[in-house]
Amino acid sequence: MAGAELEPVIGLEIHVQLRTATKMFCGCALGFGEPPNTRTCPVCLGLPGALPVANAEAIHYGLMIGMALESTLAPVSTFHRKNYFYPDLPKGYQISQFDLPLCSGGVLGDVNIHRVHLEEDAAKLNHAGVSGRIEGAESSIVDFNRGGTPLAEIVTEPELRSAEQAGEWLRLLRTTLRTLGVSDVNMEEGSLRCDANISLRPVGTNELGTKTELKNMNSFRFIERGIRAEVERQRALIDAGESVTQETLHFDPKTESITSLRSKEEAHDYRYFPEPDLPPIVITDAMLARASEALPELPAARERRYVDQLSLSADSARLFAWRAELADFFDAVCDSDATLDPQVAANWVTELQGRLVDEEPQDSKVTPASLAQLAALVASSTVNQGGAKQVLEQMLANGGEPAEIVAAEGLEAVGGADELAPVVAAALEANPELTERLRGGDMKPIGVIVGEVMKQTRGRADGKEVTALVREQLGLS
Ligand code: ADP
Ligand code: MG
Ligand code: ZN
Repeated sequence: MAGAELEPVIGLEIHVQLRTATKMFCGCALGFGEPPNTRTCPVCLGLPGALPVANAEAIHYGLMIGMALESTLAPVSTFHRKNYFYPDLPKGYQISQFDLPLCSGGVLGDVNIHRVHLEEDAAKLNHAGVSGRIEGAESSIVDFNRGGTPLAEIVTEPELRSAEQAGEWLRLLRTTLRTLGVSDVNMEEGSLRCDANISLRPVGTNELGTKTELKNMNSFRFIERGIRAEVERQRALIDAGESVTQETLHFDPKTESITSLRSKEEAHDYRYFPEPDLPPIVITDAMLARASEALPELPAARERRYVDQLSLSADSARLFAWRAELADFFDAVCDSDATLDPQVAANWVTELQGRLVDEEPQDSKVTPASLAQLAALVASSTVNQGGAKQVLEQMLANGGEPAEIVAAEGLEAVGGADELAPVVAAALEANPELTERLRGGDMKPIGVIVGEVMKQTRGRADGKEVTALVREQLGLS
Protein backbone atom coordinates (compact mmCIF):
# COMPACT_ATOMS: atom_id res chain seq x y z
CA MET A 1 0.00 0.00 0.00
CA ALA A 2 2.99 2.31 0.52
CA GLY A 3 3.12 5.05 -2.07
CA ALA A 4 -0.56 4.97 -3.03
CA GLU A 5 -2.71 7.95 -2.08
CA LEU A 6 -4.66 7.04 1.06
CA GLU A 7 -8.09 8.12 2.23
CA PRO A 8 -9.42 7.93 5.80
CA VAL A 9 -12.47 5.74 6.49
CA ILE A 10 -14.31 6.57 9.69
CA GLY A 11 -17.32 5.03 11.44
CA LEU A 12 -18.74 6.40 14.69
CA GLU A 13 -20.35 4.69 17.68
CA ILE A 14 -22.26 7.15 19.82
CA HIS A 15 -23.68 6.52 23.28
CA VAL A 16 -26.54 8.80 24.27
CA GLN A 17 -27.89 8.95 27.81
CA LEU A 18 -31.65 9.17 27.55
CA ARG A 19 -33.38 11.79 29.67
CA THR A 20 -36.04 9.56 31.20
CA ALA A 21 -37.35 10.02 34.73
CA THR A 22 -36.08 6.63 35.88
CA LYS A 23 -33.36 4.14 35.01
CA MET A 24 -33.51 1.55 32.21
CA PHE A 25 -34.59 -1.45 34.25
CA CYS A 26 -35.56 -0.16 37.71
CA GLY A 27 -37.50 2.67 39.34
CA CYS A 28 -34.48 4.64 40.58
CA ALA A 29 -34.36 8.29 39.52
CA LEU A 30 -31.48 9.16 37.21
CA GLY A 31 -28.56 10.55 39.16
CA PHE A 32 -26.58 13.59 38.07
CA GLY A 33 -24.25 15.09 40.63
CA GLU A 34 -25.98 13.67 43.71
CA PRO A 35 -23.85 12.22 46.54
CA PRO A 36 -22.43 8.84 45.42
CA ASN A 37 -24.62 5.75 45.76
CA THR A 38 -27.83 7.55 46.72
CA ARG A 39 -29.74 6.47 43.58
CA THR A 40 -29.59 2.72 43.86
CA CYS A 41 -31.76 -0.33 44.43
CA PRO A 42 -31.24 -4.12 44.29
CA VAL A 43 -31.77 -4.11 40.49
CA CYS A 44 -29.17 -1.49 39.53
CA LEU A 45 -26.77 -2.76 42.21
CA GLY A 46 -27.01 -6.17 40.54
CA LEU A 47 -28.01 -8.00 43.70
CA PRO A 48 -28.84 -11.69 43.18
CA GLY A 49 -32.48 -12.40 42.39
CA ALA A 50 -33.43 -8.82 41.54
CA LEU A 51 -35.61 -8.61 38.43
CA PRO A 52 -35.35 -5.93 35.70
CA VAL A 53 -38.37 -4.30 34.03
CA ALA A 54 -37.81 -2.37 30.79
CA ASN A 55 -38.50 1.37 30.89
CA ALA A 56 -41.35 2.17 28.48
CA GLU A 57 -40.24 5.79 28.11
CA ALA A 58 -36.73 4.71 27.05
CA ILE A 59 -38.28 2.49 24.37
CA HIS A 60 -40.45 5.45 23.29
CA TYR A 61 -37.33 7.64 22.99
CA GLY A 62 -35.60 4.84 21.09
CA LEU A 63 -38.46 4.75 18.60
CA MET A 64 -38.35 8.55 18.21
CA ILE A 65 -34.61 8.34 17.47
CA GLY A 66 -35.22 5.52 14.98
CA MET A 67 -37.90 7.55 13.22
CA ALA A 68 -35.72 10.66 13.08
CA LEU A 69 -32.91 8.58 11.56
CA GLU A 70 -35.29 6.88 9.09
CA SER A 71 -34.41 3.47 10.53
CA THR A 72 -36.40 0.28 10.14
CA LEU A 73 -38.10 -0.28 13.49
CA ALA A 74 -38.13 -3.90 14.61
CA PRO A 75 -41.65 -5.22 15.29
CA VAL A 76 -40.01 -7.45 17.90
CA SER A 77 -36.59 -6.85 19.43
CA THR A 78 -34.82 -8.52 22.32
CA PHE A 79 -32.38 -7.79 25.12
CA HIS A 80 -29.18 -9.79 25.54
CA ARG A 81 -26.62 -10.15 28.27
CA LYS A 82 -23.17 -8.92 27.27
CA ASN A 83 -20.84 -10.66 29.68
CA TYR A 84 -17.66 -9.11 31.00
CA PHE A 85 -16.09 -8.30 34.33
CA TYR A 86 -15.39 -4.80 35.50
CA PRO A 87 -15.72 -3.19 38.94
CA ASP A 88 -18.39 -0.82 37.63
CA LEU A 89 -20.54 -3.73 36.46
CA PRO A 90 -21.65 -5.69 39.52
CA LYS A 91 -23.84 -8.20 37.65
CA GLY A 92 -20.93 -9.36 35.50
CA TYR A 93 -22.92 -8.47 32.40
CA GLN A 94 -24.51 -5.44 30.78
CA ILE A 95 -28.04 -5.73 29.43
CA SER A 96 -27.81 -4.63 25.81
CA GLN A 97 -29.21 -5.66 22.44
CA PHE A 98 -27.51 -8.02 20.03
CA ASP A 99 -29.02 -9.55 16.88
CA LEU A 100 -32.45 -7.93 17.16
CA PRO A 101 -31.84 -4.23 17.86
CA LEU A 102 -34.74 -1.78 18.15
CA CYS A 103 -33.71 0.09 14.95
CA SER A 104 -31.79 -1.09 11.89
CA GLY A 105 -30.37 0.95 9.02
CA GLY A 106 -31.29 4.57 8.45
CA VAL A 107 -29.65 7.77 7.33
CA LEU A 108 -28.79 11.19 8.74
CA GLY A 109 -27.38 13.92 6.53
CA ASP A 110 -24.93 12.25 4.18
CA VAL A 111 -24.14 9.25 6.41
CA ASN A 112 -25.96 5.94 6.62
CA ILE A 113 -26.84 4.50 10.00
CA HIS A 114 -25.99 0.87 10.75
CA ARG A 115 -28.21 0.39 13.81
CA VAL A 116 -29.56 1.91 17.02
CA HIS A 117 -30.02 -0.20 20.13
CA LEU A 118 -30.92 0.29 23.78
CA GLU A 119 -28.76 -0.70 26.73
CA GLU A 120 -27.91 0.26 30.29
CA ASP A 121 -24.95 2.42 31.34
CA ALA A 122 -22.31 1.06 33.71
CA ALA A 123 -21.61 2.65 37.08
CA LYS A 124 -18.80 5.15 37.39
CA LEU A 125 -15.35 4.59 38.82
CA ASN A 126 -13.79 7.58 40.56
CA HIS A 127 -10.10 7.18 41.00
CA ALA A 128 -9.37 8.75 44.33
CA GLY A 129 -5.60 8.33 44.38
CA VAL A 130 -3.61 7.13 47.38
CA SER A 131 -6.04 6.60 50.22
CA GLY A 132 -3.73 5.73 53.06
CA ARG A 133 -6.22 3.13 54.21
CA ILE A 134 -4.11 0.40 52.73
CA GLU A 135 -0.45 1.28 53.01
CA GLY A 136 0.75 2.71 49.67
CA ALA A 137 -2.30 1.55 47.71
CA GLU A 138 -4.26 3.74 45.36
CA SER A 139 -8.00 3.49 45.77
CA SER A 140 -11.02 4.01 43.57
CA ILE A 141 -14.63 4.29 44.54
CA VAL A 142 -17.59 3.00 42.58
CA ASP A 143 -20.57 5.32 42.27
CA PHE A 144 -23.63 3.30 41.28
CA ASN A 145 -25.81 6.34 40.63
CA ARG A 146 -25.00 6.14 36.92
CA GLY A 147 -25.38 2.35 36.79
CA GLY A 148 -28.53 1.45 34.85
CA THR A 149 -29.00 4.82 33.14
CA PRO A 150 -30.75 4.23 29.78
CA LEU A 151 -28.49 4.53 26.76
CA ALA A 152 -29.18 4.53 23.05
CA GLU A 153 -26.15 3.38 21.07
CA ILE A 154 -26.08 4.74 17.53
CA VAL A 155 -23.68 3.09 15.08
CA THR A 156 -22.89 4.62 11.68
CA GLU A 157 -21.66 2.89 8.55
CA PRO A 158 -17.96 3.56 7.84
CA GLU A 159 -18.74 6.43 5.50
CA LEU A 160 -17.08 9.49 6.99
CA ARG A 161 -13.93 10.63 5.20
CA SER A 162 -12.32 13.28 7.39
CA ALA A 163 -12.06 14.56 10.94
CA GLU A 164 -13.91 17.75 9.94
CA GLN A 165 -16.77 15.79 8.37
CA ALA A 166 -17.01 13.61 11.48
CA GLY A 167 -17.21 16.70 13.69
CA GLU A 168 -19.79 18.36 11.49
CA TRP A 169 -21.91 15.21 11.28
CA LEU A 170 -21.74 14.71 15.03
CA ARG A 171 -23.09 18.23 15.50
CA LEU A 172 -25.97 17.33 13.22
CA LEU A 173 -26.64 14.24 15.32
CA ARG A 174 -26.50 16.26 18.52
CA THR A 175 -28.83 18.85 17.06
CA THR A 176 -31.23 16.08 16.04
CA LEU A 177 -31.20 14.46 19.48
CA ARG A 178 -31.53 17.81 21.23
CA THR A 179 -34.46 18.74 19.02
CA LEU A 180 -36.09 15.41 19.82
CA GLY A 181 -35.67 16.23 23.52
CA VAL A 182 -34.53 12.70 24.32
CA SER A 183 -31.20 13.63 25.91
CA ASP A 184 -29.16 16.47 27.40
CA VAL A 185 -26.52 15.64 24.75
CA ASN A 186 -23.77 17.25 26.80
CA MET A 187 -20.38 15.88 25.82
CA GLU A 188 -18.50 17.33 28.80
CA GLU A 189 -20.98 15.76 31.22
CA GLY A 190 -20.92 12.47 29.34
CA SER A 191 -24.53 12.33 28.19
CA LEU A 192 -23.18 12.17 24.62
CA ARG A 193 -20.06 10.02 24.14
CA CYS A 194 -18.36 9.10 20.92
CA ASP A 195 -15.94 6.37 19.82
CA ALA A 196 -14.34 6.73 16.39
CA ASN A 197 -13.30 3.74 14.27
CA ILE A 198 -10.58 4.70 11.84
CA SER A 199 -8.76 3.05 8.96
CA LEU A 200 -7.01 4.07 5.75
CA ARG A 201 -7.25 2.65 2.27
CA PRO A 202 -5.92 3.52 -1.17
CA VAL A 203 -8.16 6.05 -2.91
CA GLY A 204 -10.38 4.33 -5.44
CA THR A 205 -10.58 0.97 -3.63
CA ASN A 206 -13.60 -0.34 -1.73
CA GLU A 207 -12.09 -2.86 0.64
CA LEU A 208 -11.81 -1.70 4.25
CA GLY A 209 -8.40 -1.47 5.88
CA THR A 210 -7.56 -2.60 9.41
CA LYS A 211 -9.25 -0.24 11.86
CA THR A 212 -8.41 1.13 15.25
CA GLU A 213 -10.95 2.49 17.72
CA LEU A 214 -10.46 5.79 19.55
CA LYS A 215 -12.41 5.58 22.79
CA ASN A 216 -14.63 8.07 24.59
CA MET A 217 -13.68 11.51 23.43
CA ASN A 218 -15.61 14.16 25.28
CA SER A 219 -15.64 17.26 23.08
CA PHE A 220 -16.07 18.03 19.41
CA ARG A 221 -12.64 19.57 19.28
CA PHE A 222 -10.97 16.54 20.85
CA ILE A 223 -12.78 14.21 18.47
CA GLU A 224 -11.56 16.11 15.44
CA ARG A 225 -8.03 16.40 16.83
CA GLY A 226 -7.99 12.75 17.89
CA ILE A 227 -9.11 11.51 14.48
CA ARG A 228 -6.59 13.75 12.73
CA ALA A 229 -3.76 12.48 14.96
CA GLU A 230 -4.77 8.83 14.43
CA VAL A 231 -5.05 9.26 10.65
CA GLU A 232 -1.54 10.72 10.62
CA ARG A 233 -0.21 7.92 12.84
CA GLN A 234 -1.65 5.27 10.49
CA ARG A 235 -0.41 7.13 7.43
CA ALA A 236 3.13 7.23 8.82
CA LEU A 237 3.01 3.49 9.60
CA ILE A 238 1.83 2.62 6.09
CA ASP A 239 4.26 5.01 4.44
CA ALA A 240 7.05 3.28 6.36
CA GLY A 241 5.90 -0.05 4.95
CA GLU A 242 4.50 -1.24 8.27
CA SER A 243 0.93 -2.32 8.94
CA VAL A 244 -1.77 -1.03 11.27
CA THR A 245 -2.64 -3.25 14.25
CA GLN A 246 -6.29 -3.58 15.20
CA GLU A 247 -6.53 -2.13 18.68
CA THR A 248 -8.45 0.16 20.99
CA LEU A 249 -6.74 3.50 21.60
CA HIS A 250 -6.88 6.46 23.93
CA PHE A 251 -6.22 9.99 22.69
CA ASP A 252 -4.81 12.41 25.26
CA PRO A 253 -5.82 15.91 24.16
CA LYS A 254 -3.24 17.51 26.47
CA THR A 255 -0.24 15.81 24.87
CA GLU A 256 -1.85 14.86 21.52
CA SER A 257 -0.51 11.37 22.22
CA ILE A 258 -2.23 8.11 21.35
CA THR A 259 -1.82 5.09 23.61
CA SER A 260 -3.07 1.52 23.31
CA LEU A 261 -5.79 0.33 25.72
CA ARG A 262 -6.06 -3.20 24.35
CA SER A 263 -5.17 -5.11 21.22
CA LYS A 264 -7.35 -7.49 19.23
CA GLU A 265 -5.79 -10.49 20.96
CA GLU A 266 -7.15 -9.19 24.24
CA ALA A 267 -10.51 -8.37 22.67
CA HIS A 268 -13.51 -9.61 24.57
CA ASP A 269 -15.71 -12.49 23.64
CA TYR A 270 -18.86 -11.29 25.33
CA ARG A 271 -20.78 -14.58 25.13
CA TYR A 272 -24.01 -12.79 24.35
CA PHE A 273 -27.15 -14.72 25.26
CA PRO A 274 -30.81 -13.68 25.50
CA GLU A 275 -31.71 -11.98 28.78
CA PRO A 276 -34.04 -14.53 30.37
CA ASP A 277 -35.60 -12.05 32.78
CA LEU A 278 -36.93 -9.66 30.08
CA PRO A 279 -39.61 -10.46 27.53
CA PRO A 280 -39.06 -9.31 23.92
CA ILE A 281 -40.09 -5.73 23.11
CA VAL A 282 -43.16 -5.90 20.90
CA ILE A 283 -43.86 -2.61 19.15
CA THR A 284 -47.57 -1.84 18.86
CA ASP A 285 -49.29 0.58 16.47
CA ALA A 286 -50.16 2.73 19.46
CA MET A 287 -46.46 3.00 20.41
CA LEU A 288 -45.53 3.95 16.83
CA ALA A 289 -48.32 6.54 16.68
CA ARG A 290 -47.22 8.08 19.97
CA ALA A 291 -43.58 8.29 18.83
CA SER A 292 -44.42 9.80 15.47
CA GLU A 293 -46.75 12.39 17.06
CA ALA A 294 -43.92 13.41 19.37
CA LEU A 295 -41.53 14.21 16.49
CA PRO A 296 -40.70 17.93 16.21
CA GLU A 297 -39.37 19.69 13.10
CA LEU A 298 -36.08 17.95 12.34
CA PRO A 299 -32.93 19.53 10.87
CA ALA A 300 -33.63 18.31 7.31
CA ALA A 301 -37.08 19.95 7.39
CA ARG A 302 -35.68 23.13 8.93
CA GLU A 303 -33.04 23.26 6.19
CA ARG A 304 -35.75 22.92 3.52
CA ARG A 305 -37.89 25.60 5.17
CA TYR A 306 -34.96 28.05 5.26
CA VAL A 307 -34.42 27.56 1.52
CA ASP A 308 -38.08 27.45 0.44
CA GLN A 309 -39.58 30.11 2.68
CA LEU A 310 -36.68 32.43 3.54
CA SER A 311 -34.67 31.95 0.32
CA LEU A 312 -31.49 31.33 2.28
CA SER A 313 -28.53 30.01 0.30
CA ALA A 314 -28.06 26.24 0.47
CA ASP A 315 -24.85 26.76 2.46
CA SER A 316 -26.45 29.00 5.11
CA ALA A 317 -29.51 26.74 5.42
CA ARG A 318 -27.39 23.67 6.01
CA LEU A 319 -24.90 25.38 8.32
CA PHE A 320 -27.72 26.58 10.60
CA ALA A 321 -30.07 23.59 10.42
CA TRP A 322 -27.23 21.23 11.27
CA ARG A 323 -26.37 23.29 14.35
CA ALA A 324 -29.51 24.19 16.25
CA GLU A 325 -27.69 26.83 18.30
CA LEU A 326 -26.89 28.78 15.15
CA ALA A 327 -30.38 28.28 13.73
CA ASP A 328 -32.04 29.41 16.97
CA PHE A 329 -29.83 32.49 17.06
CA PHE A 330 -30.58 33.23 13.41
CA ASP A 331 -34.34 32.88 14.07
CA ALA A 332 -34.02 35.31 16.98
CA VAL A 333 -32.16 37.87 14.81
CA CYS A 334 -34.94 37.67 12.20
CA ASP A 335 -37.64 37.89 14.88
CA SER A 336 -36.18 41.07 16.32
CA ASP A 337 -36.38 42.90 12.96
CA ALA A 338 -38.97 41.67 10.48
CA THR A 339 -37.73 44.09 7.79
CA LEU A 340 -34.31 42.44 7.67
CA ASP A 341 -33.47 40.37 4.57
CA PRO A 342 -33.02 36.83 5.99
CA GLN A 343 -29.88 36.20 3.94
CA VAL A 344 -28.36 39.42 5.28
CA ALA A 345 -29.22 38.28 8.81
CA ALA A 346 -27.73 34.88 7.97
CA ASN A 347 -24.49 36.48 6.76
CA TRP A 348 -24.13 38.38 10.01
CA VAL A 349 -24.75 35.26 12.10
CA THR A 350 -22.07 33.56 10.01
CA GLU A 351 -19.70 36.50 10.59
CA LEU A 352 -20.32 36.19 14.31
CA GLN A 353 -19.90 32.41 14.33
CA GLY A 354 -16.60 32.72 12.45
CA ARG A 355 -15.21 34.81 15.30
CA LEU A 356 -16.21 32.36 18.03
CA VAL A 357 -13.93 29.56 19.18
CA ASP A 358 -15.69 26.66 20.90
CA GLU A 359 -18.53 28.92 21.93
CA GLU A 360 -22.13 29.23 20.78
CA PRO A 361 -23.44 32.68 19.79
CA GLN A 362 -25.89 32.48 22.71
CA ASP A 363 -22.93 32.50 25.11
CA SER A 364 -21.29 35.52 23.49
CA LYS A 365 -21.85 39.18 24.40
CA VAL A 366 -23.67 39.75 21.10
CA THR A 367 -27.45 39.50 21.43
CA PRO A 368 -29.74 38.68 18.49
CA ALA A 369 -31.33 42.13 18.78
CA SER A 370 -27.99 43.94 18.65
CA LEU A 371 -26.87 41.90 15.63
CA ALA A 372 -30.14 42.81 13.90
CA GLN A 373 -29.47 46.49 14.70
CA LEU A 374 -26.00 46.21 13.22
CA ALA A 375 -27.41 44.71 10.02
CA ALA A 376 -29.94 47.56 9.84
CA LEU A 377 -27.15 50.15 10.20
CA VAL A 378 -25.43 48.60 7.19
CA ALA A 379 -28.70 48.43 5.23
CA SER A 380 -29.26 52.16 5.83
CA SER A 381 -25.62 52.91 4.81
CA THR A 382 -24.96 54.42 8.23
CA VAL A 383 -21.91 52.22 8.42
CA ASN A 384 -20.17 50.24 5.68
CA GLN A 385 -19.25 46.53 5.76
CA GLY A 386 -15.74 47.18 6.99
CA GLY A 387 -16.93 49.54 9.71
CA ALA A 388 -19.65 47.11 10.74
CA LYS A 389 -17.08 44.36 11.20
CA GLN A 390 -15.15 46.65 13.52
CA VAL A 391 -18.38 47.27 15.44
CA LEU A 392 -18.96 43.52 15.65
CA GLU A 393 -15.49 43.05 17.14
CA GLN A 394 -16.35 45.64 19.79
CA MET A 395 -19.69 44.00 20.51
CA LEU A 396 -17.95 40.65 20.95
CA ALA A 397 -15.38 42.11 23.31
CA ASN A 398 -17.60 44.38 25.37
CA GLY A 399 -21.23 43.93 24.34
CA GLY A 400 -23.19 47.12 23.80
CA GLU A 401 -25.44 48.77 21.24
CA PRO A 402 -24.07 49.01 17.70
CA ALA A 403 -25.37 52.57 17.13
CA GLU A 404 -23.57 53.76 20.25
CA ILE A 405 -20.36 52.01 19.23
CA VAL A 406 -20.55 53.59 15.76
CA ALA A 407 -20.94 57.03 17.33
CA ALA A 408 -18.32 56.53 20.03
CA GLU A 409 -15.72 55.20 17.60
CA GLY A 410 -16.56 57.60 14.77
CA LEU A 411 -17.28 54.75 12.39
CA GLU A 412 -20.10 56.39 10.40
CA ALA A 413 -19.75 55.72 6.71
CA VAL A 414 -18.28 58.54 4.67
CA GLY A 415 -20.39 58.85 1.56
CA GLY A 416 -22.13 61.17 -0.88
CA ALA A 417 -20.71 63.96 -2.96
CA ASP A 418 -20.44 66.36 0.00
CA GLU A 419 -18.22 64.23 2.20
CA LEU A 420 -16.47 61.86 -0.13
CA ALA A 421 -15.85 63.95 -3.25
CA PRO A 422 -13.26 66.25 -1.62
CA VAL A 423 -11.35 63.24 -0.26
CA VAL A 424 -11.30 61.65 -3.72
CA ALA A 425 -10.18 64.92 -5.29
CA ALA A 426 -7.35 65.23 -2.77
CA ALA A 427 -6.22 61.68 -3.45
CA LEU A 428 -6.10 62.35 -7.21
CA GLU A 429 -4.21 65.57 -6.67
CA ALA A 430 -1.65 63.86 -4.47
CA ASN A 431 -0.96 61.29 -7.21
CA PRO A 432 -0.57 63.28 -10.46
CA GLU A 433 1.18 60.50 -12.36
CA LEU A 434 -1.47 57.90 -11.59
CA THR A 435 -4.19 60.42 -12.33
CA GLU A 436 -2.73 60.97 -15.81
CA ARG A 437 -2.75 57.24 -16.50
CA LEU A 438 -6.36 57.00 -15.32
CA ARG A 439 -7.30 59.94 -17.50
CA GLY A 440 -5.68 58.11 -20.41
CA GLY A 441 -7.99 55.14 -19.85
CA ASP A 442 -5.50 52.89 -17.97
CA MET A 443 -7.61 51.86 -14.97
CA LYS A 444 -4.93 49.75 -13.25
CA PRO A 445 -3.92 52.45 -10.71
CA ILE A 446 -7.53 52.82 -9.47
CA GLY A 447 -6.77 50.48 -6.58
CA VAL A 448 -4.09 52.83 -5.27
CA ILE A 449 -6.52 55.76 -5.30
CA VAL A 450 -9.27 53.73 -3.57
CA GLY A 451 -6.69 52.59 -1.03
CA GLU A 452 -5.65 56.18 -0.39
CA VAL A 453 -9.27 57.25 0.13
CA MET A 454 -9.84 54.31 2.46
CA LYS A 455 -6.77 55.35 4.43
CA GLN A 456 -7.96 58.94 4.70
CA THR A 457 -11.47 57.85 5.78
CA ARG A 458 -10.17 55.06 8.03
CA GLY A 459 -11.99 52.47 5.94
CA ARG A 460 -15.34 54.21 6.19
CA ALA A 461 -15.89 54.81 2.46
CA ASP A 462 -17.55 52.49 -0.01
CA GLY A 463 -15.10 51.23 -2.67
CA LYS A 464 -17.69 51.27 -5.43
CA GLU A 465 -18.69 54.79 -4.63
CA VAL A 466 -15.04 55.91 -4.64
CA THR A 467 -14.53 54.35 -8.09
CA ALA A 468 -17.64 56.09 -9.39
CA LEU A 469 -16.43 59.45 -8.05
CA VAL A 470 -12.98 59.00 -9.63
CA ARG A 471 -14.61 58.37 -13.02
CA GLU A 472 -16.89 61.37 -12.54
CA GLN A 473 -14.09 63.72 -11.53
CA LEU A 474 -11.85 62.64 -14.42
CA GLY A 475 -14.69 62.83 -16.93
CA LEU A 476 -14.50 59.14 -17.72
CA SER A 477 -17.73 57.46 -18.79
P1 ADP B 1 -16.76 -3.81 16.30
O1 ADP B 1 -17.30 -5.19 16.29
O2 ADP B 1 -15.28 -3.73 16.46
O3 ADP B 1 -17.49 -2.87 17.20
P2 ADP B 1 -18.26 -3.13 13.95
O4 ADP B 1 -18.11 -3.86 12.66
O5 ADP B 1 -19.46 -3.43 14.78
O6 ADP B 1 -16.95 -3.28 14.79
O7 ADP B 1 -18.26 -1.61 13.62
C1 ADP B 1 -18.19 -0.66 14.61
C2 ADP B 1 -17.99 0.69 13.96
O8 ADP B 1 -16.78 0.69 13.21
C3 ADP B 1 -19.06 1.09 12.96
O9 ADP B 1 -19.31 2.47 13.11
C4 ADP B 1 -18.43 0.81 11.62
O10 ADP B 1 -18.93 1.69 10.65
C5 ADP B 1 -16.99 1.09 11.89
N1 ADP B 1 -16.06 0.32 11.07
C6 ADP B 1 -16.08 -1.01 10.83
N2 ADP B 1 -15.03 -1.36 10.08
C7 ADP B 1 -14.30 -0.24 9.83
C8 ADP B 1 -13.10 0.05 9.12
N3 ADP B 1 -12.39 -0.89 8.53
N4 ADP B 1 -12.68 1.34 9.10
C9 ADP B 1 -13.35 2.30 9.73
N5 ADP B 1 -14.47 2.10 10.40
C10 ADP B 1 -14.96 0.85 10.47
MG1 MG C 1 -17.02 -1.24 18.71
ZN1 ZN D 1 -32.23 1.02 40.75
